[in-house]
Amino acid sequence: MSDIRRKGLTMTQKILASHAGLDSVEVGQLIMSRLDMVLGNDITTPVAVKEFRKIGIDNVFDKNKIAIVPDHFTPNKDIKSAEQVKYIREFAKEKGIVNFFEVGQMGVEHALLPEKGLVVPGDVIIGADSHTCTYGALGAFSTGVGSTDMAAGMATGEAWFKVPEAIQFELKGKPGKWVSGKDIILHIIGMIGVDGALYKSMEFVGDGLSSLSMDDRFSMANMAVEAGAKNGIFAVDDKTIAYVKEHSNRPYKVFAADEDAVYSEKYTIELSDIKPTVAFPPLPDQARTIDKVGDVKIDQVVIGSCTNGRIEDMRIAAAVLKGHKVHPDVRCIIIPATQKIWKQSMEEGLFNIFVDAGAAVSTPTCGPCLGGHMGILAKGERAVATTNRNFIGRMGHPESEVYLASPAIAAASAVAGRIASPDEL
Ligand code: SF4
Repeated sequence: MSDIRRKGLTMTQKILASHAGLDSVEVGQLIMSRLDMVLGNDITTPVAVKEFRKIGIDNVFDKNKIAIVPDHFTPNKDIKSAEQVKYIREFAKEKGIVNFFEVGQMGVEHALLPEKGLVVPGDVIIGADSHTCTYGALGAFSTGVGSTDMAAGMATGEAWFKVPEAIQFELKGKPGKWVSGKDIILHIIGMIGVDGALYKSMEFVGDGLSSLSMDDRFSMANMAVEAGAKNGIFAVDDKTIAYVKEHSNRPYKVFAADEDAVYSEKYTIELSDIKPTVAFPPLPDQARTIDKVGDVKIDQVVIGSCTNGRIEDMRIAAAVLKGHKVHPDVRCIIIPATQKIWKQSMEEGLFNIFVDAGAAVSTPTCGPCLGGHMGILAKGERAVATTNRNFIGRMGHPESEVYLASPAIAAASAVAGRIASPDEL
């Protein structure tokens, strides 16, 4: 330890310093960081593989530290997507990449990696997908990159970063009825805007964490990028450690922020003040509480994605749908995010509830989240979705609309035929 006292560091800064082999880092400093995992999907990996081949080396840096998850257009929706997946499947075989997830083992990447134990606290992870920030729920630094960075990461096991400053969100108290991690993050993005955390870390701390499940935290960290953040990260607690021990054999390291860590802003969020929240199109910051949404008739509900396709989401949707029927004017599509979640939902009898209510259940896929397949919207149609983006044309026609909400609100809306709270059923 040097005799000059270094400045206090945030969680993210400490993780980055450790992976760059440095005692300390400064905001804005460019560093080269060691990588614990490099991720790509069926859209971004083909480009990365082409770039990798241009480098002219034979092997990837570590066969165990690359994950390739064909999830966006799989099971292949057309010839082009079939060719893309074939190309990366062959690359994975050729290079001996261990974590290639074929249909049947595949899930939506950001639900799959933690479930497979491929992410632990203290990791540095890059993924050629913007919602790679999800793994911050486990106290890891994870961020989305482009396909060329993925290629370089696969070749060298390193990536460069500009050290971000951070915003601290201190969560206090307990959320009320029907309020989940999704409502909390929609509330926060509504408060700070879609560029409110531009190239910053969103660090979540406080006694309120104890009332948030891991699924709540994944959902919140997942949407950090919707506020423009470089990453979202949660303080590690007993729930994190229990999750990691259940899912992974890898060693982990817990990084806590220094007491004198420097933040650009600090917010205190009283969780009991937050109401179920819906983000109106065309941006995730167009947040309105459920009592202020008015009469918004809908055509489709999608419950799934890397934001809200986990087992708790399935259970909440089933609790709301039980004994009800999906409105005759609504298609309700439910997509468990991974095979494990799918099987667990089946074993718990949730599929009986969904099907009896008149919902369709899909194999894991990103599908409609990005307007890929499995539920594209026509001109003028509206969907309530548990996904994370409601940009123009995100789920289909440029004149369709997506309203972002929790599984509870989405399921209630499917029954009501308009955006509704479960309390209204
Ligand atoms: Fe991206 Fe949606 Fe797939 Fe998540 S579910 S990885 S947001 S396309």
